Amino acid sequence: MVAKTDRDVSAMAASLPRSGIRAAASLAAGKEGLIHLEFGEPSVMAPLAVRQAAAEALLKQRMVYTPTEGPPALRQALSDKLWRVNGVEASPDEVFVTHGGIGALYLALATLLETGDEVLLPDPGWPNVVSQVLALGGVPRFYPLASEDGYLPDPDSWSIGPRTRAVVVNSPSNPTGSVFSGALMERVAAVASHHGLFVISDEVYDQIAYDARPVAMRPLYPERTLAVYSFSKTYAMTGWRLGYLVTPKNRVDATKRVAEAVYSSTSMVAQEAAKAALTVPEAEIQSVVATYHRRRDLALDRLREWGLYRYTPGGAFYLMVDVSAAGDTAGVHRRLIEEHGVVTVPGSAFGASAAGELRLSLAAKDEDIGRALDAVAEVLGLR
Ligand code: PLP
Repeated sequence: MVAKTDRDVSAMAASLPRSGIRAAASLAAGKEGLIHLEFGEPSVMAPLAVRQAAAEALLKQRMVYTPTEGPPALRQALSDKLWRVNGVEASPDEVFVTHGGIGALYLALATLLETGDEVLLPDPGWPNVVSQVLALGGVPRFYPLASEDGYLPDPDSWSIGPRTRAVVVNSPSNPTGSVFSGALMERVAAVASHHGLFVISDEVYDQIAYDARPVAMRPLYPERTLAVYSFSKTYAMTGWRLGYLVTPKNRVDATKRVAEAVYSSTSMVAQEAAKAALTVPEAEIQSVVATYHRRRDLALDRLREWGLYRYTPGGAFYLMVDVSAAGDTAGVHRRLIEEHGVVTVPGSAFGASAAGELRLSLAAKDEDIGRALDAVAEVLGLR
């Protein structure tokens, strides 16, 4: 008989942080009639063409294993999209179809890190990537983003040591919605190149921007950029779990080895849906983006009304609201749920520097966003 020990799970697994986003949502579990501003879910269905393509594929084709890196036709279509939409030149060989954007991030890190390697990460930033670094034996090092700077980094202030292997940048950003200018992307590339770092450029919100199209990292630093994209946000396909990594060709073999170990191939029905997604007219995508844009403006108007305006998010569909005046973000978060039925996420879920803030998702109905911000003002004693 095997002796029972206290080592039924690894120390690594036991120590990984849980998602603060899910924890925030669990406070609202079981309550009805709430305004949900906690999840990064588009509020619309995936385009009809996507759903039809998937249904047809399910009826007519056997769903089988596909090549680990994705089928050639999809990789060709992605290579075309990268050029058309992002100005990124990448041969189909350099495009790797992954299990969501999160899978692309994991493959990027897993093919890069040795135990003890440091990765620079944004604070606030999307928390799952921090857990990935920890799971791979890496050491997260954070660079701060402040609302006074529009939540944009200063690459010249990054503390880069001999163990620093990579920097993660995310534009447009979750949780802030900030978008890097072309000049800032160039500065990131210059600093990374100077120190020989890899840039893991998380561009999963590449098509959700309100002013100019976000600038891609790969053309600025092709030799060491690992670019992460996803079908989740642009096409409202979060549940289909499909993304892609764009990697220099010399890393494809290693990427395939890790992917084979972890998931062998992505879902074929999702791949069929993805091919259809790539044919969706730009106007259809932009009409959804226009809706987020309108909601952002509506939210900013409300913030100005209550004297809470701090910065203007240029993309994604998130907004950070400073509630530090209350001195107790957890209390504000709880009161918003209990007294006003409004669910948000405390900024601490995204990093220590955002402890006085709440993240609101703008993927809710216009009137709900207005009501939610009025509730924030009320909890802060401003109305
Ligand atoms: N990167 C960022 C910044 C995100 O916000 C998300 C999802 O919320 C992801 C990556 C992962 O995307 P996916 O749903 O495609 O795994």
